[in-house]
Amino acid sequence: AVPPVADIGVIGLAVMGENLILNMASKGFTVAAFNRTVSKVTAFTEGRAKGLTIVGADSLENFVALLKRPRKVMLMVKAGAAVDEFISHVKPFLEPGDIIIDGGNSHPADSTRRTKELSSEGLLFIGTGVSGGEEGALTGPSIMPGGNPLAWEAVKPIFQGIAARVDDGTPCCDWVGEEGAGHFVKMVHNGIEYADMQMIAESYHLLRDVASLSAPQIAEVFAEWNRGELNSYLIEITADILTKTDDKTGQPLVDVILDAAGQKGTGKWTSVAALDAGSPAATITEAVYARAMSALKEERMAASHFLKGPEVTPPTDQAAFIEGVRQALYASKIAAYAQGFQLLRLSAQDAGWTLDFGAIALMWRGGCIIRAQFLDRIKEAYDAQRDLPNLLLAPYFQDAVQGVQTAWRQTIAAAAVNGIPTPAFASALAYYDGYRTAKLPANILQAQRDYFGAHTYERTDGPRGEFHHTNWTGR
Ligand code: NAP
Repeated sequence: AVPPVADIGVIGLAVMGENLILNMASKGFTVAAFNRTVSKVTAFTEGRAKGLTIVGADSLENFVALLKRPRKVMLMVKAGAAVDEFISHVKPFLEPGDIIIDGGNSHPADSTRRTKELSSEGLLFIGTGVSGGEEGALTGPSIMPGGNPLAWEAVKPIFQGIAARVDDGTPCCDWVGEEGAGHFVKMVHNGIEYADMQMIAESYHLLRDVASLSAPQIAEVFAEWNRGELNSYLIEITADILTKTDDKTGQPLVDVILDAAGQKGTGKWTSVAALDAGSPAATITEAVYARAMSALKEERMAASHFLKGPEVTPPTDQAAFIEGVRQALYASKIAAYAQGFQLLRLSAQDAGWTLDFGAIALMWRGGCIIRAQFLDRIKEAYDAQRDLPNLLLAPYFQDAVQGVQTAWRQTIAAAAVNGIPTPAFASALAYYDGYRTAKLPANILQAQRDYFGAHTYERTDGPRGEFHHTNWTGR
């Protein structure tokens, strides 16, 4: 029989699994590898893994036999049924105290269910978000583990060993919370990613169609923005993208890429979670809808012949307009992150999880798609006040928005006047204005609800929770 030599075993040899294994081996861990299609195991051990501390197995039983106790089995397979199938296949070979880790993009509710089911059988489950794509998996992803806290000490050295690190060496990986908390945080990361991307796209749209800048000119604008407070991976790659020339036509490549966006569902999951929690995350949801609108390409092209908008008026001061767009992007970004963190806070309350928002900001600081300098400010805000109800209330962000809100409003007004859709910018501003408004018009909603449905209302001069009904019609 083979001796148990492996610190951890990974099942799933697609891009993410292979790269994570190579990352683990490069950090001194011995890793067992397995895949449903077993031929891929040999292809891997004879190929990219050759000569490294990576041991392939030809069956699940032999794979488990390679693992040191407590055994750590990490799944990097397609999210959904494949995870449950592998869990049920591997379980018979495991013993109480062994650990099953799911590193795919699983729905948080599935991870909550798996944590409970496996716990009742003495097995410890971790559902972990892994962000950073192929490159991140290989060189240092952001890792967001949740599930059974009893499993954390055993996997911590491996996860923190392979994670991205911020400048001071702190790993972008820490224990997130119980049950599906890790996957929930990863899901909200992706929701914020949708918003970040859409806000950058809206900036591009304004620069292209109102300021009439070419792709290379916009590349310069983004490169400049990346040197300031907007410094982030997404701004950096967008600047890079805009400089790329199409081999076939010699045009900027972005100009020949069809404007119909795809999506894999994590933005939608975040939006559904926000609706479930009653947490206003409209900027994230608008970003999902913006992709849906873009995908209606043929319908939009047909409609463009009939539905007329205004003529575009070029800005009188081009430099001021560009700076206004930058400030609108910055303020909208703050509001979108405030929405994401608010969703985390309200959902954690519902689920009974204790989340450390500063630690989450740090996990997103490196390795993942939304990594940005800006997350340092978020971490500082939560370090200064752990129970901060909303990021907008942190003194740093209060001042930041105060400093740019005139330009934010003017940019959105210019977009409206010129007929440029900016759903993410506009919903971010509406969120800011809604949150700072002491008296919203919901008194009318309550009156309407009471009028047609006797749903009752509270009074401004009475205690909260005391409900009244009026016979509005006298009938
Ligand atoms: P993937 O294409 O999502 O999945 C391929 C792997 O899943 C293969 O090992 C495949 O085995 C296995 N698999 C598929 N269906 C299966 C089934 N019914 N039963 C057993 N195994 C099955 O791979 P990936 O892109 O590397 O992603 C892995 C996970 O990480 C996914 O959950 C993904 O959402 C997540 N993720 C991906 C990225 C990314 O950038 N790609 C980033 C973050 C997270 P066979 O070889 O036998 O087909």
